[in-house]
Amino acid sequence: MNLDDMRRYVDEIEATPFNVLMNQASADVRAILLKSLDYHELTPDEGLTLYTAQGDDLRATIKAADLARAEDVGEEVTYVVNRNINFTNICFVGCQFCGFKRQKWESDAYDHADATILAKVADAVARGATEVCMQGGINPDMPAFKYRDLLVAIKSHFPDIHIHAFSPMEIMYGARRTRMEYPEYIAMLREAGLGSIPGTAAEILDDSVREILSHKKVDVAAWVEIITTAHTLGVPTTSTIMYGHVENPLHVVNHLDLLRSIQKRTHGFTEFVPLRFIHENTVLFRKGLVKPPANPFLDLQMYAFARLFLRGQIDNLQTSWVKLGVDLAAVTLKAGCNDFSGTLMEESITAQAGGTAGEFVAVDLIEDHARAAGRVAVERSTLYKKLYDRKAPNGARPIAPSLQPLDHHASGGSGCG
Ligand code: SF4
Repeated sequence: MNLDDMRRYVDEIEATPFNVLMNQASADVRAILLKSLDYHELTPDEGLTLYTAQGDDLRATIKAADLARAEDVGEEVTYVVNRNINFTNICFVGCQFCGFKRQKWESDAYDHADATILAKVADAVARGATEVCMQGGINPDMPAFKYRDLLVAIKSHFPDIHIHAFSPMEIMYGARRTRMEYPEYIAMLREAGLGSIPGTAAEILDDSVREILSHKKVDVAAWVEIITTAHTLGVPTTSTIMYGHVENPLHVVNHLDLLRSIQKRTHGFTEFVPLRFIHENTVLFRKGLVKPPANPFLDLQMYAFARLFLRGQIDNLQTSWVKLGVDLAAVTLKAGCNDFSGTLMEESITAQAGGTAGEFVAVDLIEDHARAAGRVAVERSTLYKKLYDRKAPNGARPIAPSLQPLDHHASGGSGCG
């Protein structure tokens, strides 16, 4: 199914009255969708039915997700003006899905000096960014307090920029290197200027799957401990899943069930971001453990299911133009999504894994796609404060080309992000 077919598919669902689609769906799915639209929490079994819905059941599920999105967060499509900075690609962890990592002796390995990172932040600020998002490889030669010192350096020059940085894997590594406990370490980063943490390195929160993907990576218990510790300390995080590799549908449902249970306790997740696995340039693909995606509806299944299953706990569902491409990401706005991610300005991890979506999306393009979907684009802060007063007349606010070189020599596939 090509992009035009996919557009026609969701447009037809959008144009069809809900009751018509419900009459075509199975009795089981009908009951589950009515339960969700009536604000009752779905069980994992019910979630599994929705995530694996096909045919008429999937069409009704997508329509219900779109209705739930409209009821819960309205017609605004939010986005953040941000810059991604993947400050090093040197990493010893060896995740099988990662095309980004390099050994330090490889010719295209890099570890940016602070001056280079500061120049990128300056460039981002000059282009209107309110956030820098920083993640990198797990560099064995990293000075123990590198993450803290980087925060201090950035904040001393750019006190207003929100720093969204350091995955739970990096937090685990930083805590080990400094011999600090998680609460002490995260509090230190918060005091140094850390605004929020990406809920990446989640992949699939099941240790049997993680053993296949990366046996050295932060395990489920540590991921949960780091995330909940951050929330307790007042440091919000995003939440993510990487899907479309070796996992099965039950792993996906259990993953979202775990995120939902964390959110009930801490209320610390700002959003949920499904990240489709990009298979090219990955060991998993070369070993034959994954195949190119065969199910053209997988992304729509994921977004629609996530909107309904997380309903009442996580309102913001972010589409990933980096993984899907901008045009397909726009299609998912009609399957439950309300957030278009950020401008990024530079992105190395997915590009190195074979992603072809590019590294930058101008605000104008997000606004065009929102309008085409009958919605309105609104800039937000990292923590979802709407920045109405920053919006230029007619919704057009082009961003100048980057003045800083991009890290095109980084890698491909899915990575820490
Ligand atoms: S995903 Fe992150 S931790 Fe894993 S190998 Fe890649 S850079 Fe290293």
